[in-house]
Amino acid sequence: MKKIVLIDMDGVLVELGDGPFSVNKNKKGFFLNNKPIKGAIDAFKELSKKYDCYIVTTPVWSNPHCWMEKRLWVEKHIGLEAKNRLILTHHKNLVKGDYIIDDTKNHGVDKFEGEHIHFGTDAFLGWHHVLDYLLY
Ligand SMILES: [Mg+2]
Repeated sequence: MKKIVLIDMDGVLVELGDGPFSVNKNKKGFFLNNKPIKGAIDAFKELSKKYDCYIVTTPVWSNPHCWMEKRLWVEKHIGLEAKNRLILTHHKNLVKGDYIIDDTKNHGVDKFEGEHIHFGTDAFLGWHHVLDYLLY
């Protein structure tokens, strides 16, 4: 059986646009129009060959568009590879998995049952570091 890898969106797959997040997070279109982080889409596809990959992201409660836009972003940038693999939750620790790739410890990451690959820290500054760790 393949091991399970959970992958965050904001700050991991998705490059958050300019300006303060506290303001942007409530704008319609913000979550749809952000670009992928360098190497993220290829990394998702590479990891999916070896692992059972899911996208686990916390939507902004105050912006219902965010929920829809995350779903549309996944289709637009990753496509069928990610179909039915999007999990929206404020409690990431309740999702089963061997690894979680996340840029924060928020929303239950600190209580996750598997290993936290802390994206953006010295050991995992970019996607190539994560692939080195999980594929080789
Ligand atoms: Mg994040």
